[in-house]
Amino acid sequence: MTSALELRGVTRVFGAGDRAVTALDHVDLSIPRGSCTAVMGPSGSGKSTLLHCAAGLDRVTGGDVEIGGVPLTGLSERRLTQLRRSRVGFVFQAFNLVPALTAAQNVALPMRLAGRRPAPGEVSAMLGEVGLADRAEHRPSELSGGQQQRVAIARALVSRPAVLFADEPTGALDAASGREVLRLLRAAVDRHGQTVVMVTHDPFAAAHADRVVFLRDGRVVSTSEGPLAAQEIAVRTAALEDRAGVLR
Ligand code: ADP
Ligand code: MG
Repeated sequence: MTSALELRGVTRVFGAGDRAVTALDHVDLSIPRGSCTAVMGPSGSGKSTLLHCAAGLDRVTGGDVEIGGVPLTGLSERRLTQLRRSRVGFVFQAFNLVPALTAAQNVALPMRLAGRRPAPGEVSAMLGEVGLADRAEHRPSELSGGQQQRVAIARALVSRPAVLFADEPTGALDAASGREVLRLLRAAVDRHGQTVVMVTHDPFAAAHADRVVFLRDGRVVSTSEGPLAAQEIAVRTAALEDRAGVLR
């Protein structure tokens, strides 16, 4: 069976000459279908770049990304956009909703951009799934941070993408809203068989994942075989950030 996502030797260099930054340095990663993977690492270790490259939001400098067996390298912009719209969802730390649109309109937006009219009830069912059936006509400014992130999750999930990427989805939220967001991501995996790849700084959030990938300086340092307890994750992240070696 092909995996949901494959990265082979993925390298991403920003800038050129003596200002070149290697954000990803030959990353190999194989993400099984129907799994939840947490990506952790110090600030600047390449987590966001990894997600953007894996989701086809950014082009790699070297190596290959495959989503559901389809290589992204060599796809035209148009084909890449089509693939992204049909197979990939993305949730950002800062929600990235369109302020002038209602919750329902925000959720319907990706379908409309794809030239599809949502079926009657499709958008409200999705808002119901994230517990916001009664907020459909509200604009983002009228919603709490947690509610805005749930709208963003509904928007990312409405097309039932095979892979959902989330970049620090709980980073801007209070603990209770964060737990609700994690519950929704977990449900996408457990109930709908979707694949979730989530960047987080929070060991408790990463403990919800089936496995944890640790990055440093654009490289995969280790990948756990299975889920890890929050304490173990905290220890491993502390070791990654221990540049001065004070903990060793
Ligand atoms: P993380 O999400 O783990 O904090 P990033 O993926 O955002 O890390 O960044 C990895 C490295 O790449 C950093 O050194 C960052 O400064 C650099 N970088 C990221 N995006 C760009 C960009 N658009 N232009 C130049 N450098 C970038
Ligand atoms: Mg980041």
